[in-house]
Amino acid sequence: MRSRRTAGYSLVIIILVILAVILALIAIGIPVFQSYKKKQDKIGCMSAMDSAKRQVIYEYINRGGDMTGQEAVGTAAYAMLGFTDLCPGGGTVYLIDETAKGGAYEITCGLHESDDCLRTRLNAGYVLGQIEDYVGNLKPAEEDEPDAIEVTLNGAKLTAEATDEDLSFKRGTATTMGYENKGTLVYYRLENYEVVYYCFVDEDHVAYWEKDTLWRGDCIE
Ligand SMILES: [Zn+2]
Repeated sequence: MRSRRTAGYSLVIIILVILAVILALIAIGIPVFQSYKKKQDKIGCMSAMDSAKRQVIYEYINRGGDMTGQEAVGTAAYAMLGFTDLCPGGGTVYLIDETAKGGAYEITCGLHESDDCLRTRLNAGYVLGQIEDYVGNLKPAEEDEPDAIEVTLNGAKLTAEATDEDLSFKRGTATTMGYENKGTLVYYRLENYEVVYYCFVDEDHVAYWEKDTLWRGDCIE
């Protein structure tokens, strides 16, 4: 009787040990897998951007430079999986018009672009555009100005918060001031259903936009 009970305890202990080992393997395995996936996404993204860019430049030269931004997007989309799906990591894809500077069109990703200033500028502008679109669609007589607006950036949802004051974040604030878990921070202020102030803070940079002064920040030329 006693030995049977002991054997029962042993079995329980063995099962618990096995469960602990399985949990430990999962705990170690998930971050390893995630970091592997991130690396694979970046490699896939760079390769897709490169192919799309080449295709656009090839077509641009073929047409003797007679190509609109919309046509460039269409060419890239046709050559690849679709324009917005070029990044396997869900990064927001941007077309940069360099034609006025004597170039063609550049295509880059808001998640994997290696120039962090360029990345901040593109992402900040993209989010501001979404806020302006949202506000532009409100019916002033019927709808209150919102305290928060949900936007999307690089495949993730992001909440932009209304603010009464002009904020002054320093470069790198999002990672040095205890905001690391919040990631990208976005604030805006409306006046008469129009965006008059906007602030975008990511892990490296800060970009401000004001109705009359337009862009300023540590990455604005
Ligand atoms: Zn990407």
